Amino acid sequence: MTEDAHPPQLDLEAQRLGARLACTLDNITDAFLMLDREWRLTFINREAERLLQCKREEVIGMNIWERFPEAVGGPYYKAYHQAVATNQSVLFEEYYQPLDLWTEVRAYPSDDGLALYFLDISQRKAQEAEFHRLAYYDRLTGLPNRQLLVERIGQALQRYQRSHHCGAVLFIDLDNFKAVNDARGHDKGDILLRMVGERMTALLRASDTVARFGGDEFVILLDNMGDSGETAAQHARDVAAKVLRAFDAAFDIAGVQHYSSPSIGVTIIDSTSGSVDEVLKRADLAMYQSKAAGRNTSTWFEAGMEQRVAARAALEADLRQALNEGQFELHYQPQCDLRQRMTGAEALLRWRHPVRGMVAPVEFISLTEETGIIIPLGAWVLRTACAQLARWAAEPRTADLRMAVNVSAQQFHQPDFVEKVLAVLADTGVRADRLKLELTESLLLKDVETTIARMELLREAGVGFALDDFGTGYSSLSYLHRLPLEQLKIDRSFVWDAEKGRHGRAIVHTIAGLGKALRMEVMAEGVETEAQLELVAEGGCQLFQGYLYSRPLAPAALADFIARVNLA
Ligand code: C2E
Ligand code: CA
Ligand code: CA
Repeated sequence: MTEDAHPPQLDLEAQRLGARLACTLDNITDAFLMLDREWRLTFINREAERLLQCKREEVIGMNIWERFPEAVGGPYYKAYHQAVATNQSVLFEEYYQPLDLWTEVRAYPSDDGLALYFLDISQRKAQEAEFHRLAYYDRLTGLPNRQLLVERIGQALQRYQRSHHCGAVLFIDLDNFKAVNDARGHDKGDILLRMVGERMTALLRASDTVARFGGDEFVILLDNMGDSGETAAQHARDVAAKVLRAFDAAFDIAGVQHYSSPSIGVTIIDSTSGSVDEVLKRADLAMYQSKAAGRNTSTWFEAGMEQRVAARAALEADLRQALNEGQFELHYQPQCDLRQRMTGAEALLRWRHPVRGMVAPVEFISLTEETGIIIPLGAWVLRTACAQLARWAAEPRTADLRMAVNVSAQQFHQPDFVEKVLAVLADTGVRADRLKLELTESLLLKDVETTIARMELLREAGVGFALDDFGTGYSSLSYLHRLPLEQLKIDRSFVWDAEKGRHGRAIVHTIAGLGKALRMEVMAEGVETEAQLELVAEGGCQLFQGYLYSRPLAPAALADFIARVNLA
């Protein structure tokens, strides 16, 4: 009796068992296939027919690689060959593209061939992908989110450790985004964010990442820029320039053209860059410098930036506290006519810092403008100056003195600026025609029509306007006659230049002549010497202000001064 020859009843038994096994295998929920040693299909159950979209009659006896030629050489092919070659089972997950099917596969080799169990895990994979999308992508823009960005920067930094390659990180913050949200609603703000994301994505290579970092902040990771810092820096510069240019065209938000701009901070990353947090902090710091430099620009991270930014942040915190704790004061610089009779005063802000002593406005005004502190601060200045006007009004001798108050662009362009001024006048009971607001040329040039309308409203109420620092701004003289101004203030630099040569003298003459033609008063600023006074008088100025007449004075010193001098 040879090994192969079975007794007839055993054969029958085997057949019955085989049939039962086939029936069982047919009914299990896993897909199940058997292959012989020539890769021919010897068995396929119902679930496998369904998953592989084939009929038992058609495929039994077929070579699996002829039936599924796309798989040849691929992951399934390699795994099955490995199982056979090592006589070890294998377990793996794989996607089979022709059938759009995610499978979990177990392959068990035996002397007869290979038994394969398949599970359809497409649904689980879809859930995993959805989970991944939720966890790693921003819902609004569809861009990678902060989490994914942090991972990618981390991976890049690790790679650079080995490869000595470098990359760059660009931190991008939209300028004035809050204004869009406030003026046009959050849904319009959302549209803008989505469009910005699309524009930036279109600029970059597939290997780069544009992520939404949060709010109106985006971060770009430029990966794999080679091992030359020079080339990397050039490429980063190009991308920063492209991002800036991408904002040149308006964004169409629900039919309304909206212009936006970005502030960008750039830092190069390589094997010495430290942690992801440090990298992001550097890019953020550089971005902050772009904001400070007037927005719509890009800034490169530099060592020392931390200290400067920290100093600024400290100053900003100090300023907020100063407002709450009443550390600001107004000093008043008397103004007079050519016969040195006092006509009024200009209110000038001073900050009595608990440690630094008296701080001049040049050191903090621009920061209050950038941070918005100027809004409450400017309101305080106006109220305090009007309170002084009210005190003057109470005395017949000083009742005609006028008060000039400096107004910042941010203040003036607040939608309720006119109402606020009128409210202060009403509250303090001061006559509107005793108040004169000093505006600068740059302020007036922004949205000229609205500006004129606003000035006219106040003008009708009696408030006067002076054009401050005249001659230093953008000086498009064409609009000057349209503005309800009563006074031009010649900037002190011209007064000082006038002494030095005919050129400055000519400018003083010209400005005074222009003022006269437009029926405006002309006041010279910064008059320090008798010689300067002579020059400006000769030039045609009727009023002046400067150290020659008086320095800015604290309220008590001002009272003494007024008691001593003649009034106009
Ligand atoms: P400004 O409006 O041009 O004010 C005149 C500045 O010239 C004052 O400086 C004043 O002290 C100075 N000055 C006046 N006469 C002379 C002179 O004969 N020689 C010299 N060398 N300087 C003279 P200050 O007080 O330091 O103010 C600087 C700037 O800060 C002001 O320039 C104004 O732009 C701004 N500022 C001051 N107070 C306020 C305020 O309440 N609100 C706003 N928005 N800005 C203010
Ligand atoms: Ca002024
Ligand atoms: Ca001035």
